[in-house]
Amino acid sequence: MRKAIAGGTIITPLDIYEDADVLIEDGTIIAVGPGVASGEIAEIVDVGGAIVAPGYIDVHVHGSAGHDTMDGTREAIEGMARFFAAHGVTSFCPTTLTQPAADIMASVRAVYECMENPIEGGAQPLGVHLEGPCIDAKKKGAQPEQHITTAAAIDYRQLFSLGNIKLITLAPEIEGNKALIAFARSQGAAVVVGHSSATYEDLEEAVRHGLNHATHTFNQMEGLHHRKPGTVGGVLLLDEIFAEFIADGIHLHPAIVDMVVRLKGPERAVAITDAISGAGMPDGDYELGGQAIVVKEGAVRLPDGTLAGSALTLDQAVRNIVEFTVAPLPEAIQMATLTPARSIGVADCKGSLEPGKDADIVILDDDLNVLKTMVGGEVVYEA
Ligand SMILES: [Zn+2]
Repeated sequence: MRKAIAGGTIITPLDIYEDADVLIEDGTIIAVGPGVASGEIAEIVDVGGAIVAPGYIDVHVHGSAGHDTMDGTREAIEGMARFFAAHGVTSFCPTTLTQPAADIMASVRAVYECMENPIEGGAQPLGVHLEGPCIDAKKKGAQPEQHITTAAAIDYRQLFSLGNIKLITLAPEIEGNKALIAFARSQGAAVVVGHSSATYEDLEEAVRHGLNHATHTFNQMEGLHHRKPGTVGGVLLLDEIFAEFIADGIHLHPAIVDMVVRLKGPERAVAITDAISGAGMPDGDYELGGQAIVVKEGAVRLPDGTLAGSALTLDQAVRNIVEFTVAPLPEAIQMATLTPARSIGVADCKGSLEPGKDADIVILDDDLNVLKTMVGGEVVYEA
């Protein structure tokens, strides 16, 4: 069955078409451009000039709406998926925390189950982002220190046994973690530096072994110094690395968001939320990996004040990028769609409005508020 979105300002995001259409057949985009919605079409949605963009993709997100990836249940992933749909997200990588391997594995299984039997009425999980446990305790942030370990000390192969790990955040400078870099790449996962004290030179070496991504750039990594470029210097300067950043105006000063965007460019800067279960909930007390956390005025903190993930949504991140940075709107959208898709190797079917790709689409008003979200051509959210 054919359906069409007609009369939109289409941001693919690499091209822009005014007063144009997206033609969809059986959940796949078959044509994009002015006048393509012709012939026999079962359903035409006229969007009256609204912005039509690829659905947003969040590759680093722990939870939302009271649910956490570490709950290890389908119900948690579904609850997150429905909340994300309301914020324009069509696919995401549920992100685990530094916890005992058995608990992480329960979450990997729950995500696998949601991939085998897709969630109705929500965003779709693309695979897991393992954040830890092979990180540096000195940069633990809100990752519980008692569960930090090295790859050499755990059976990390088991975590990859279902074939659904899309990213793994680790500290590549730690000797016991080095074998995991090449192994994770061989399993098709992005290898992500994060919660790390890696020097610039450590990072150059890790890139040679396959490291290609960075977790929340600047946060919980060795900072920039003019004689020691540190993890941050490597992330910003090594072209192989896709750099995640949290554009909530709390984790990074707006000028630093602009700096990341200018240095990495829209092809390598990846907008993420790093949201936790309290996202989309009233201010108050929540929990993250057995630790008490407080959500207050958009910030999430441990009792000692350490930032513990965010309450950001990806639609708000895109609005903030437009406000904080030099990037024009199509580039801001690119950083939340095509670039994350490329960073985890799914750009053959996700991340842009092109023939042959999944009809994962967000329709936005001029202020970039979400009007409608579609996954595989089906409406999963309507304002
Ligand atoms: Zn995180």
